[in-house]
Amino acid sequence: MSLTVVGSIAFDAVKTPFGERERMLGGSAVHFALSASFFTDVRVVGPVGDDFGEAEYEVLRGRGVNTDDIEHVEGGKTFFWKGEYEWNLNIRHTHDTQLNVFGEFEPKLSNASKAADLLFLANIQPDLQRQVREQCPNVRLAGLDSMNLWIETARESLVKTIGAVDLLFMNDDEVRMLTEQPTLLKAAQDIIAMGPRTVVVKQGEYGAALFDEEGFFALPAYPLEAVIDPTGAGDSFAGGFLGYLASLDEGEIDHGALRRAMTYGSVLASFNVEEFGVERVQRLTREEIEDRYADLRRMTAIEGVPAR
Ligand code: AMP
Repeated sequence: MSLTVVGSIAFDAVKTPFGERERMLGGSAVHFALSASFFTDVRVVGPVGDDFGEAEYEVLRGRGVNTDDIEHVEGGKTFFWKGEYEWNLNIRHTHDTQLNVFGEFEPKLSNASKAADLLFLANIQPDLQRQVREQCPNVRLAGLDSMNLWIETARESLVKTIGAVDLLFMNDDEVRMLTEQPTLLKAAQDIIAMGPRTVVVKQGEYGAALFDEEGFFALPAYPLEAVIDPTGAGDSFAGGFLGYLASLDEGEIDHGALRRAMTYGSVLASFNVEEFGVERVQRLTREEIEDRYADLRRMTAIEGVPAR
């Protein structure tokens, strides 16, 4: 099945305890698309400015990502984000967010993007996410990610957009902030009442948890000796997750498939954080993904553990 993503296409300035980059390719849609491209055809929707050149397009096209719906805004500047991580890499501080070309963006999807079977509304202003959702009435599965900035500044719009998707990805602090519930189970129940059938709560280095009508499934993150830059981990997770689902037939998407999607999501996120930005994922292979998938399955199997 085909997959379309809308979200930020960005230049990021990132500082971690292990180094820094003043300007590198990033953005929620970019991290998502690169990870999903290992499993299926992906189309990216979003605007860029004059500073977005051939080298940046080539990173996406090099992985087979379709860039026809990336709109070049004459005289515009690409979205820019600057962030810094503490020694505890789960703690991130945003120093600057410049929407630039996203400030005026009115998404107009090509017929090919509209015809996607799966749609991912990666993190960006929720009105824009909803405009894209409305242009794709026939999608079989729509997912959404967001962040604290939009919960604080556009809550009402975000809740409306959440009501129009099947699957929500958010980190643990964000679901607590959005629902004002103290436990993840209560928060997930509140979100399911807003519309989505499935909620995936990302917990940084501790992994992720999935809530749906069949219950609960939790998976630890793949253990790594070195994490260099967590930027984009959440988007890579969602890219592995939805990319894998898009590689199945619609009828095969059941709770078991969602568990496997969680595992592929964790694997893609684990590669993403091993180097800055998209550096590691750019030279990743499907074989490396499958090896780590098998490892993670082995590590988390509890079949051998006596029931009591
Ligand atoms: P993640 O680490 O998965 O939460 O996402 C990191 C990416 O999100 C970076 O590459 C940024 O360019 C992008 N980003 C940061 N802030 C925003 C925002 N307010 N809206 C959209 N994308 C953002």
